[in-house]
Amino acid sequence: MTDTGYDEWLAAVADGEGYYLACPDGHGSLPPRRSCPHCGAAELTEEPLPGTGEILTFTEVHVPAPEFADDAPYVTAIASFGPVKLTGVVRDLPADGVDLGTAVSVGAGTNATTGEQLLVFRPASE
Ligand SMILES: [Zn+2]
Repeated sequence: MTDTGYDEWLAAVADGEGYYLACPDGHGSLPPRRSCPHCGAAELTEEPLPGTGEILTFTEVHVPAPEFADDAPYVTAIASFGPVKLTGVVRDLPADGVDLGTAVSVGAGTNATTGEQLLVFRPASE
């Protein structure tokens, strides 16, 4: 049941059905995982991803990798959603509106250069 890969997981996030994998000790991880990366437990269950996360770190990118050329400048961030940390691109927020602790929701967006799906953080509606 935990055979899903990252792409399937991203599709679930896009549908508003994001989840993470939880072990009996409450550690969180993301697909694809067959055991807990923190303690090695093999019994992982799917738990709903919290609706709101908090930005932990962020970087404004002015000179992007080629596959993000049409997205620049943009802000990449790591945000905590419950026990898991997600890495994504910040949308719908000016770069100076991004700060540590900024509340965001997670969804899927499209890379303007490659058309691929990617993880996107947007301002959380209070
Ligand atoms: Zn664990």
